[in-house]
Amino acid sequence: MAGPQRTCHACRRSFPQGELLRFACGPQGRAVLDLRGRLPGRGVYLCPRLACLRRGLKPKGIGGALGCGAPEDSPEGLRDRAQVGLSRMLQEAIGHAHRAGAVVYGADRVAATLDHGEAGCVVAAADAAKRTRSDLAERVAPGSLMTALSKAELGEVLGTAEVGVFAITHPRLAERIRMLALRWNCLREENGDGQG
Ligand SMILES: [Zn+2]
Repeated sequence: MAGPQRTCHACRRSFPQGELLRFACGPQGRAVLDLRGRLPGRGVYLCPRLACLRRGLKPKGIGGALGCGAPEDSPEGLRDRAQVGLSRMLQEAIGHAHRAGAVVYGADRVAATLDHGEAGCVVAAADAAKRTRSDLAERVAPGSLMTALSKAELGEVLGTAEVGVFAITHPRLAERIRMLALRWNCLREENGDGQG
């Protein structure tokens, strides 16, 4: 589900395509961030990390690789734009899963879903209580507890008050949300908000 492997143009390490940021030549003849993977033509990839964004924006970076101009943004601007874009995509994906009846939220109901082996992916809000997170971390496979958005943002998407944790029961939707959350959280840590 993670898709084919791609190499980061800056650090030259390879990752599943869904864990990287795609850039393509935009209509203005400059390399642009292509979060939704919709721009035609060749793409180059960078890790969602500031160090790789910085290297990718240098002369002979991704612009050179694509045969077009470098992106207009600064590395920090790109990071912020990618995070905002991924927030929006997460909200859309979670809303879609919710309408499909594939979202379970609230600590007790998520725990029950885990007990029944029905949770494809578990996501905690970035500002969820530490206790909520540590209780869940004991129940899920290592690395499968994701972090995304805030309690207020999750509540808004799910049409309720604040939501600290939710599970996705549909495997394909769970994988999509997991890949978005992975990149979102990587950028958040790069933004200095990843502590605690
Ligand atoms: Zn990299």
